[in-house]
Amino acid sequence: MARAKITSVRGVKDILPEESPRWQRVEALARETFARYGYSEIRVPIFERTELFARSIGEETDIVNKEMYTFDDKGGESLTLRPEATASMCRAYVQHALYSQPGVAKLFCIGPMFRYERPQAGRLRQFHQIDAEAFGSEDPSVDAEVIVMLADFLSAAGLKDLSLQVNNLGDAECRPAYSRALKEYLREAAQGLGPEVKERAGRNPLRFLDSKDPDHQAIIARAPTIDRYWNPACRAHLDAVCDRLKGAGIRYEVNPRLVRGLDYYCLTVFEVTSSHLGAQNAVCGGGRYDGLVEELGGPPTPAIGFAIGMERLLQLTGGDSGESAGPPAALDAFIVPLGGIAAAEAFALAGELRRGGLRVDLSFGGGSMKSQMRRAGRSGARFVLVLGDDEIAKGTVTLRDMRESRQEELPRAEILSKLSSGV
Ligand code: ATP
Ligand code: MG
Repeated sequence: MARAKITSVRGVKDILPEESPRWQRVEALARETFARYGYSEIRVPIFERTELFARSIGEETDIVNKEMYTFDDKGGESLTLRPEATASMCRAYVQHALYSQPGVAKLFCIGPMFRYERPQAGRLRQFHQIDAEAFGSEDPSVDAEVIVMLADFLSAAGLKDLSLQVNNLGDAECRPAYSRALKEYLREAAQGLGPEVKERAGRNPLRFLDSKDPDHQAIIARAPTIDRYWNPACRAHLDAVCDRLKGAGIRYEVNPRLVRGLDYYCLTVFEVTSSHLGAQNAVCGGGRYDGLVEELGGPPTPAIGFAIGMERLLQLTGGDSGESAGPPAALDAFIVPLGGIAAAEAFALAGELRRGGLRVDLSFGGGSMKSQMRRAGRSGARFVLVLGDDEIAKGTVTLRDMRESRQEELPRAEILSKLSSGV
């Protein structure tokens, strides 16, 4: 009896060979674009001590409360699969004293993230992010540069009809007053909601503004907004960011209700959404987190960054617009050995041609000329090299051009240069 199949975990996907080229192109584009802005790649671990995320993302957030893949390893230590990369990048920045280098430390990271969410369109349990972070400056020009780089990358990737929303969440001086006012408002306005919602709104009122629940939208729409609470420094910071964005020709909208689902943000926050994504419409979120590095044991270090969701980005580049999937790289040659001696010869010839830089495959498992030529046809290679007893005795190879439907016999020593010239 056939054994039962084992499938991948819910909300976790394979990226199949025909999809990989699109991923590679987007990753290469990110690397090229970010390099032009002085960013270097850092590769941080897939899992970390649970405490890192609890302390940085915040105990009251959805991510830490509900969405983390947390487990005890065999040594009894609590570990967590990373739900995002910023915390790990800050940890690495502190651990390796990257702050001792002069100037702004600009780092990026590309890879999978893990969140135990309800899988649906645009929401996976393993998804991928492109993450960029700039450490060491509170200059609003850095905020603007990060956003300009993001816009540069998204437009090079072929994304259209995006909306960029920007806000300022205040600082340690003006945010508490706003938070109090919002809490007061919610105490009244959220009367009719469930006890759990009310309790959370009391503990972290700003988070309520991030709620996607339709029942909450009317309450959110009437809530006090932070713009009335900005102190002169926060207002000046936002003005400077907006000024630079205007100068760079970037279209944006200031949305005083924009907050983000992580606790560590302050001052500038931003989000890029697309009208083509349905309910899960955020392509990228980011913001400033001036207190986080210190919170993780490092020196006081202002910082700002963003994370792009790669699945959502690729969804927007699919079809006929922008970045489209080209065919996978075709083989240069496919070798067909006829007989046992030829099999060893074909194996050696494949090695020589590959060392010479060609993409080569060969027919395995023998079979008739007809069945092996069928294999050759399916391989998509333009040239098929036939090696039989005759050819081996003469030191030749029969080269068939599948496109032109003609063949010729060539000395084996000439094959590499013939194929390399492509004719
Ligand atoms: P959302 O509001 O969609 O839940 P978020 O605020 O939780 O987003 P961030 O933590 O800011 O998302 O992550 C940045 C980006 O990563 C998002 O804008 C989105 O494109 C992508 N992303 C987040 N969670 C998922 C997921 N579960 N599946 C696929 N992509 C995701
Ligand atoms: Mg989320």
